[in-house]
Amino acid sequence: MNKPISYYSTNLKTAEVSFREALLKGLAPDRGLFMPEYIPQVSEDEILAFCDMPYFEIAYKVMGKFLNTELPEKKLYELVKDAYNFDVPLEFVCDKKYVMRLDQGPTASFKDFAARMMGRLINYYLALENRQLIILTATSGDTGSAIANAFYGLNNIKVVVLYPEKEVTLRQRKQMTTLGENIQVISLDGKFDDCQALVKQAFSDHELEYLNLSSANSINIGRLIPQIVYYFYAYARLHKKHQSKDIIFSVPSGNFGDMMGGVLAMKMGLPIKKFIIATNANDEFPKLLKTQEYKKIEPSLNCISSAMNVGHPSNLSRLIALYGGVMDETGYISKQPDYTMMRKEIYAISIDDAQTRQTIKETYHQFKVLLEPHGAVGWAGLKAFIKDNPAADLQEQLFVSLETAHPAKFPEEINTILGIDPELPDSLKNIENKQEFIIKMENSYSAFKTFLKTSF
Ligand SMILES: *Cc1c(COP(=O)(O)O)cnc(C)c1O
Repeated sequence: MNKPISYYSTNLKTAEVSFREALLKGLAPDRGLFMPEYIPQVSEDEILAFCDMPYFEIAYKVMGKFLNTELPEKKLYELVKDAYNFDVPLEFVCDKKYVMRLDQGPTASFKDFAARMMGRLINYYLALENRQLIILTATSGDTGSAIANAFYGLNNIKVVVLYPEKEVTLRQRKQMTTLGENIQVISLDGKFDDCQALVKQAFSDHELEYLNLSSANSINIGRLIPQIVYYFYAYARLHKKHQSKDIIFSVPSGNFGDMMGGVLAMKMGLPIKKFIIATNANDEFPKLLKTQEYKKIEPSLNCISSAMNVGHPSNLSRLIALYGGVMDETGYISKQPDYTMMRKEIYAISIDDAQTRQTIKETYHQFKVLLEPHGAVGWAGLKAFIKDNPAADLQEQLFVSLETAHPAKFPEEINTILGIDPELPDSLKNIENKQEFIIKMENSYSAFKTFLKTSF
């Protein structure tokens, strides 16, 4: 057994903590993000051995590098097997270029990979302490369903989701309301901001402290570590086929959690030649890499790849930390990272909506590959990189672009661009006829508080 890895805060103003503490805290006390002080290595032989393993076993091996000192190996194996019970297709496009579909989980979003594992790890530690936690979350649709599905059936965690009655689609609603068991869903007679305000007020209400309220926010280290795995998986599977010595990934990015998983995979020893970071019109990162000056985009721009409408990526301080710099939670850089090294390893590009739509059209007609807006930003980034590097012989290069959601989640956009209706994946199909459990509530804090006090 190795020495346990401890976790430092990117703001460097707080003591290092254990994985368990970082997981249960989420945010560091100095408002920084937790990062491993040491990055474990995976050898070439280990990577070669991944070639024929099912996804969950690769997950067990890769995450075990961080977690085998944190929970019994048998337990980790059990959690991983339970979390990753769905397919991870690598779809051929052309040459040695592929799209990795991270959209086969229960909410058809790549966020399932992180949320399902984080939920199981939290539940494991709570059970050890014989403790319960109530997760409160406000949603405009997608986050709520990902959280609700990831935590469904975990017996030490209860989930309360608030959504604005008139602002979610029928399909989004059903993904939350048909679960039951430990998932309670409130339909609020108000707007998304009202939902968020009620949740915030509950968190700061001392009279509710005894309830152990928590949020499942996206900056938790427990969401980052699972996102390392699919980079190893893609390389191992395709290496076996093509004998390629290295790989280039293109990652459609918003808060940069996805790409941080990839950068960590590279630092663990995966032969990644380059990362293509593709953003939508929110181009603060491509600008930073070019000019070494950081300017948030406030408010963020609305693009059709809506999950990437981020004007200040929450994981950027982690990336800066990995390259030796310090960025605080406001985006202020007190120590510059090594930009030369960053540019060597990362290519960043901004793709606008017109290019995104054009890409959906082209990949469909040229290759019969159906992308949705986020995955199309990734593929357009890959193409931009190739165009920008005409001298390099990229024909023989292995490329993987990430598809982060299922096209059926964006039926209107796809229909407008291609005139077809994408077929629903089974995960979304099965909910149509299921019974819904909905608690209707007026927009008032006292009603919400009474609900919390009487339900738990
Ligand atoms: C969240 C999300 C992204 C962005 O991922 P980050 O880790 O925030 O960069 C991209 N695509 C989809 C569909 C998402 O839901």
